[in-house]
Amino acid sequence: MVFDLRRCDFSKCKGECLARCLFIDYNEEQAKADMAKLIHQKPADVLAKCVTCYACNEFCPRGANPWDLINQMQEKTGLYIYPEEAKKTALGWAKKEDKIIKGDTGKPALSIGGFADALPYDKVFKGKLFEGLSLIMGGSYACRAPETHMCDANSCLDNLPSMIKNLTDTGYKEIIFYHDACYGFVTSEALAMMIEVPFKPIHIMEYIRNWLRDNKDLITPLNLKIAYQRPCTSRYNPHGELTESLYDWMEQTFELLGCELVERKYQKENSMCCSSGIFPTQKKRAMGYVKQNLQDAKDAGAEAYITFCPICTAVMRNTAKNMEMTPYYIVMLVQKALGEELPIGGAGIGVPVH
Ligand code: SF4
Ligand code: SF4
Repeated sequence: MVFDLRRCDFSKCKGECLARCLFIDYNEEQAKADMAKLIHQKPADVLAKCVTCYACNEFCPRGANPWDLINQMQEKTGLYIYPEEAKKTALGWAKKEDKIIKGDTGKPALSIGGFADALPYDKVFKGKLFEGLSLIMGGSYACRAPETHMCDANSCLDNLPSMIKNLTDTGYKEIIFYHDACYGFVTSEALAMMIEVPFKPIHIMEYIRNWLRDNKDLITPLNLKIAYQRPCTSRYNPHGELTESLYDWMEQTFELLGCELVERKYQKENSMCCSSGIFPTQKKRAMGYVKQNLQDAKDAGAEAYITFCPICTAVMRNTAKNMEMTPYYIVMLVQKALGEELPIGGAGIGVPVH
């Protein structure tokens, strides 16, 4: 999205964008002072302190998109550092070979973008939940949102028209997006950029909720108290009053699975990011946030910790386990309730990064 200076009115807000940030200890005055510097294209402390969680776009009561200004200024000033070596690995996702595995005619396709090997797809997308779906994967179908964590504010926006054209050219009328960054880009971002989307985008959680609702008799209730990791990229999702939100899909999914979602401090708008953006440069600080977040879940009574994004999963699963909460990637939780064998292996589901 783009920062909208016309909406950023200091007389009509309390500097919520940065005053509510969970990673920076600012009051209203400090928040507005830093925002004023950025608006005048000057460096500000927030640029280096930010963990690139996108939350300030939701915090701003005026819809001014402050995160997009922060990200643009991080790139312009170089004050947010992301090492070139780490960038190469992550950029590899945008260059993965394209591949389409055809499923049953008339069924939707599941787009996994550049995450095919990180998951890995052949181990994860198995079983009844995915029966008959086609799989679309590769760099041409990746939204490239993770690059915003790497001091590159524009590649994902420049890439969006061709990503939507490539997905359209596959001919599928309904496409489920495995990662909610891709979903957010082909919904909210495409609308903001006035790009026509000829297919119906479906968020993976909406697909899972619908599938479970239609197949209730296959579920063995898990009877687990759980907490979940809201991916930072879900802040790009539409959440208007006219549409169901991620919260609806998740809460109904957990209920269908017989899980009790615990009430905790870091939930919904106040969810903490997994901090993967600062892992390569500030590992100690990042691990502190991971523990703070997981401790909150544990204190609220969670027995299991559910992740949706392969990056959150890789960063958090081992620490969750050490803190005696069983980590489940959401698909695994469903497979468990269906009595299926759980997949192992792969950065997204099996190998911790620390
Ligand atoms: S971005 Fe929003 S919350 Fe922040 S100063 Fe501007 S109007 Fe206020
Ligand atoms: S993106 Fe997240 S960490 Fe960065 S300033 Fe906004 S709320 Fe804070």
